[in-house]
Amino acid sequence: MEMRADLLIVGAGMVGSALALALRHSGLQILLLDGGPLTVKPFDAQAPFEPRVSALSAASQRILERLGAWEGIAQRRATPYSDMHVWDGSGTGQIHFSAASVHAQVLGHIVENRVVQDSLLERLHDSDVGLLANARLEQLRRSGDDWLLTLADGRRLRAPLVVAADGAHSAVRRLAGCDTREWDYLHHAIVTSVRCSAGHQATAWQRFTDEGPLAFLPLTRDGQQDWCSIVWSTTPEQAERLMALDDAAFVQALERAFEGRLGSVLQADPRVCVPLRQRHAKRYVEHGLALVGDAAHTIHPLAGQGVNLGFLDAAVLADVLGKACERGERLADVKVLSRYERRRMPHNLALMAAMEGFERLFQANPLPLRWLRNSGLKLVQQMPEAKAMFVRQALGLSGDLPELARA
Ligand SMILES: Cc1cc2nc3c(=O)[nH]c(=O)nc-3n(C[C@H](O)[C@H](O)[C@H](O)COP(=O)(O)OP(=O)(O)OC[C@H]3O[C@@H](n4cnc5c(N)ncnc54)[C@H](O)[C@@H]3O)c2cc1C
Repeated sequence: MEMRADLLIVGAGMVGSALALALRHSGLQILLLDGGPLTVKPFDAQAPFEPRVSALSAASQRILERLGAWEGIAQRRATPYSDMHVWDGSGTGQIHFSAASVHAQVLGHIVENRVVQDSLLERLHDSDVGLLANARLEQLRRSGDDWLLTLADGRRLRAPLVVAADGAHSAVRRLAGCDTREWDYLHHAIVTSVRCSAGHQATAWQRFTDEGPLAFLPLTRDGQQDWCSIVWSTTPEQAERLMALDDAAFVQALERAFEGRLGSVLQADPRVCVPLRQRHAKRYVEHGLALVGDAAHTIHPLAGQGVNLGFLDAAVLADVLGKACERGERLADVKVLSRYERRRMPHNLALMAAMEGFERLFQANPLPLRWLRNSGLKLVQQMPEAKAMFVRQALGLSGDLPELARA
């Protein structure tokens, strides 16, 4: 037997779930499917932090508030941060950004991905969106005006419009034959949570080492400010060495690499190592198909922007589809879907290019480039207007904002 829907969203990660919620009142029959179980875990405030976290921008917070998911996030665990401190480990350049410089309260929140996911799922379980758990997509082909999807357990689904929200290794993107431009950053990221002897001061810290950026992102438990989530991007060889260390040797290496800025590193949770690759789909849309979130683009975590871009994709696509519904247009029409691509692709590409330049400049070892970046950091540090512009970009509240991200 075949199931039919107006819109099939493949992948109920943070981005696919946000898109489904954004369209819950559109009148469309929506099916959201995922290879995972889609259950909401009871939250335990005493449990260790999940290793994967995201720095959510003010724009993402607004979107999640409008979707009714922010309350669940705030009730579980979210750490606001008001300042960001970045410095060059092989020089004297440093820069400090603060929310106060643009009269904002916070720059963003550090939230465990599981917390965002569960808060979105909670809302989805209360909605009319059809949820298909343990539904792994295996085949996809066109059938007349529709797409026909076959799941690993043999179930078949049909819809005129499919959205790929199935992450960096998107099966939809591959099966539909969408081309990507991709290259290795030659970096792996080690992520874990650590406890330090000094409090994090509601600040996101980032040191650029010769091998790559090392970030300490603030986490709070029971009002204590001594935990941080770390993202240590480094060469694959060094990552392998660091992953092989026992806990005592690892915290020592980490403390050294971070110049002991937050005192001693007292304890580390189990580590996860993620290879980093930049990917960008050459097109986000074709007839009856749209790509969102990591299925469309993956970016170096040094900017902490991946899922923020994904939430904006979801909000813009919901805008475009919602308006097309009101006008009675065919949603699968590539002319309709291209409106989404035109609004999101230039923004995503600009940010990816800026991060690429940043990453290369900080990776460069020749003396003139080291001088340039240290002088650049010092120069910008003395330019309050330029810093305020960076802060407004990081908040994500400038430019062409979708309805869900507007004040
Ligand atoms: C080390 C690291 C640190 C990061 N830090 C930040 C940060 O601070 N801020 C930030 O904004 N971003 C950050 N990111 C990026 C962020 O994690 C991603 O952009 C985000 O998780 C992408 O969400 P998504 O919903 O698009 O994809 P995913 O989270 O990958 O979700 C995809 C979903 O699709 C499902 N799926 C996959 N294949 C199939 C299939 N065949 N059939 C059915 N379902 C399928 C999966 O089960 C999953 O639920 C970081 C990334 C890394 C690697």
